Parts: sequence; C-alpha cells; structure tokens
Amino acid sequence: MASDHENNGGFQAIQEYFQQKSCKSCLRHFRQEGIELLRQEPGVLVVRVTCQSCGHPLGVAIVGTTPRPPKCQPRHGEWTKADQSRLQAKPRINYDDVLEAHSFIQALESDWMKHLPATRR
Ligand SMILES: [Zn+2]
Repeated sequence: MASDHENNGGFQAIQEYFQQKSCKSCLRHFRQEGIELLRQEPGVLVVRVTCQSCGHPLGVAIVGTTPRPPKCQPRHGEWTKADQSRLQAKPRINYDDVLEAHSFIQALESDWMKHLPATRR
C-alpha cells in the first residue's frame, strides 16, 4: 500500500530527528538502534526512544505522518475521543503509555515536522 511507504519514510525522518537530540542523562546523542518502531498505522507511527549509551528511556511518542490541513488540525497533543479509544483497544500499548506520549509530544512541539520529507502532490 502506498501509505506503508510514506510511513517508512516518516519513521526514517523520526530517527533522524532523534539522532540530533541528546540524552538528558549522559548528554550523548540518541542512536538509531535506540529508536524503536512500536506500532505503525496509516498516518501514525508509535516509536519508543531509549538512550543506547546509558539506557535512559526518553519515552514513547505517537507521531502523525500525514500532515493535515491547518484548518482541521487539532491543537497539538490533543487526541479526539475516537483516537483514544482506538488506541486503548490495542494490545501492547496501554493507556499510561498514551498519556506519557501525550505530554512527550507536547514537549516536542511541532518543529520535528520540519524534518519530514516534503510532500509533493
Ligand atoms: Zn544517555
């Protein structure tokens, strides 16, 4: 499916993004091996970032890979009820993870989007 390809590109961009970030514990850059794809869905990637140097976990991030038109974009980090219950129903990621990711994404703000490849349509 075409969306798989887009998601893979998005994951690469996320890896590149986090490799530019430093661990707060040991101040070393995150490595590609520490960035783990937990779940992939159309337009959404769930990644877990762990420092490979000291083992300090940065957290879980739910990242949308499909840019939405600014008009209907929800406030950053906000999930609709449908999104929440959809994720709650999934195994392997519990609701605490979602909450953790929620604040994590807010901490990221939106500048990681700049690292995504430009969408040409
Ligand atoms: Zn570290």
